[in-house]
Amino acid sequence: MPAVGFSPINPKYCADLLMKTAMYYNAFVRTATDFHGAACMSAIPNPPWYGGGLRFTCTQCGNCCTGAPGFVYVNDEEIRRIAEFLGNEDGTLGREHLRRVGRRYSLTENKKNGDCCFLRTEDGKRICSIYPVRPLQCRTWPFWDINLDTPDDWREASLTCPGMNNGRQYDLVQIRVRLHAKQWEDLPA
Ligand code: SF4
Repeated sequence: MPAVGFSPINPKYCADLLMKTAMYYNAFVRTATDFHGAACMSAIPNPPWYGGGLRFTCTQCGNCCTGAPGFVYVNDEEIRRIAEFLGNEDGTLGREHLRRVGRRYSLTENKKNGDCCFLRTEDGKRICSIYPVRPLQCRTWPFWDINLDTPDDWREASLTCPGMNNGRQYDLVQIRVRLHAKQWEDLPA
């Protein structure tokens, strides 16, 4: 009888393995760049197309927080964090902010204009009113796998996000950290 929980196709086993692989890869890249500078990047096996880094600084245009229907998924910890930020003593969010999507939860959006329920306009800027506790999905934008797959994917996303290709430079390690982040604590604030 096969050992329960140790099958190579056990989803948890696969997730752990992927996470460990990403951690070792990131550690290797960090060591390479720390000790030998950018020149050593050529030693990394099959560096991705964004190996030289990418630029991004949010301009607070709000484009990514509105428009076509979508989901901003939040887990229990993120819900608690947002609720605490809003001063909700019961530690949860009401139906004006939270909706169920299958077995997960997503923030709500305005059905007329697609605005995220936490998007506000102040002094002509579209701002996130829960920015310090925004969900991981928002914190990792635009370093999502769908944007990083190819240069064309990145370019296409940048057509509606003026923050991409401008401002702060993210190196490969910083990109990888955002790409593989699984929980709020995986990212620096
Ligand atoms: S679309 Fe880009 S620049 Fe505009 S708010 Fe979103 S992240 Fe910031």
